Amino acid sequence: MSTNSCEKSVGTEGRPLRVAVIGSGPAGVYAADILTKSEEVRNGGLHVSIDLFDRYPAPYGLIRYGVAPDHPRIKGIVNALHKVLDRGDIRFFGNVDFGTDLSLADLQAHYDAVIFATGAIKDADLNIPGVELEGSFGGADFVSWYDGHPDVPREWPLTAKHVAVIGNGNVALDVARMLSKHAEDLLVTEIPDNVHRGLQASPVTDVHIFGRRGPAQVKFTPLELRELSHSKDVDIVLYPEDFEFDAASDEAIRTNNQIKTMVGTLTNWLVDQDDDVSAVTSTASRRLHLHFLHSPVEIIGTDGKVSGIRFERTELDGTGDARGTGEIIEYPVQAVYRSVGYLGSALADVEFDHVRGVVENDGGRVLDADGAPVPGVYTTGWIKRGPVGLIGHTKGDALETVTHLLRDLAQLPAAVHAEPEAVVDLLDERGVQYTSWDGWLELDAHEKALGAAASLDGGVQRERVKVVPRVDMVTVSRGAAVEV
Ligand code: NAP
Repeated sequence: MSTNSCEKSVGTEGRPLRVAVIGSGPAGVYAADILTKSEEVRNGGLHVSIDLFDRYPAPYGLIRYGVAPDHPRIKGIVNALHKVLDRGDIRFFGNVDFGTDLSLADLQAHYDAVIFATGAIKDADLNIPGVELEGSFGGADFVSWYDGHPDVPREWPLTAKHVAVIGNGNVALDVARMLSKHAEDLLVTEIPDNVHRGLQASPVTDVHIFGRRGPAQVKFTPLELRELSHSKDVDIVLYPEDFEFDAASDEAIRTNNQIKTMVGTLTNWLVDQDDDVSAVTSTASRRLHLHFLHSPVEIIGTDGKVSGIRFERTELDGTGDARGTGEIIEYPVQAVYRSVGYLGSALADVEFDHVRGVVENDGGRVLDADGAPVPGVYTTGWIKRGPVGLIGHTKGDALETVTHLLRDLAQLPAAVHAEPEAVVDLLDERGVQYTSWDGWLELDAHEKALGAAASLDGGVQRERVKVVPRVDMVTVSRGAAVEV
């Protein structure tokens, strides 16, 4: 482990500044890209050499394993990330787990600086009785399943006809849309075959989304909300008694264009909703119900399985917050999906705020238990600031972190094994089956070829068919010359 201060020549006349970025989602790729394009590098004064690590065999993090397959616009961000990684100046090592395959001490020995960009993939807790029942699921876990995450079971129990989704954020919308959409309408996307088969067999008829506050307090974004109405043979059902606006709602509608647009969309749907189109008379084979002012109280079980959900009706308190009214409402459902936000997972050897789910940091400088910066250790993205904001917001984050790293250049502890091959030797010695950028190009081409082959069979143009099992991903990737 290195404790020496960085020699003056590191990154300048001598060897390049060696930086490890952990996590190859947008946060990690943006940080690496911003560093390589910094003024210090562009003016020729600083040379950097960056290695990007990911615990998954494929790059792109949340874009591959968090964005719903029917969101091609967001999946398109992959093209920008691909361009960065395809330039050849950043090495990619997939299938390398920080904390198992490499420790912080290993990274400090091989790099002058480390940036953690590990994001968040777990569900935030919802502390109500019944969450442990069979049929109560974390929304983020379902996302991992439909996105073909290598570490979740292949099968998902889609046996419920009536489903509740708790939360009024974009993940709740994704989960509800994926649950209610007809499987054949997803074939044009990159959904894995097991997911298509699972959704195809789903008997679902009614998906209910519940928000604990009002229509002006939703955390959706306008495009994502409007998209709900694009699913074929799925009626949206709204309830007039849920349309309550307090002074804070009026202010939000007046001052926030997104809120104004979304309240407009919801109100138009309600107005257009013919009295005939109700939960009872809808002619579509599936319905998506949007409920507001419902705070979850308890998931009800029969024989250990979800059989219903109980809410307390709320009212707005004037500030945009909600308070309970004491009125209890029950809905018979056989599955509950909790989409109340993500929570980052702790990292080995790094101080962690378990309540906020973030690495302890000050503007991206990772802090020790005494609140002092750990020299050469940084963080960016959701694991730095929490799981809020759209992907683009992560760029500002990365800029702040990289700016701090560059300001600290003279104080960075120099790596003792800075030769680029040293870390490769270490991984080889430990038998880590790492994947490379060339390996990803191989897997990418393989998935697209599977898509083309499936298109011939089924007649539907399939963009790609994702390879799900980790071992298959690694095998295909390492079939290519693993050159780094
Ligand atoms: P989010 O936007 O923070 O929404 C969480 C929702 O859960 C809120 O409606 C919140 O209500 C509700 N909630 C929290 N605790 C609750 C409780 N105890 N009982 C009932 N409801 C509770 O989180 P997210 O949906 O996980 O999204 C995370 C980020 O990813 C967001 O920035 C989102 O926009 C982004 N994202 C974007 C897309 C896209 O397609 N563009 C897709 C997925 C995610 P309160 O507001 O009352 O707290």
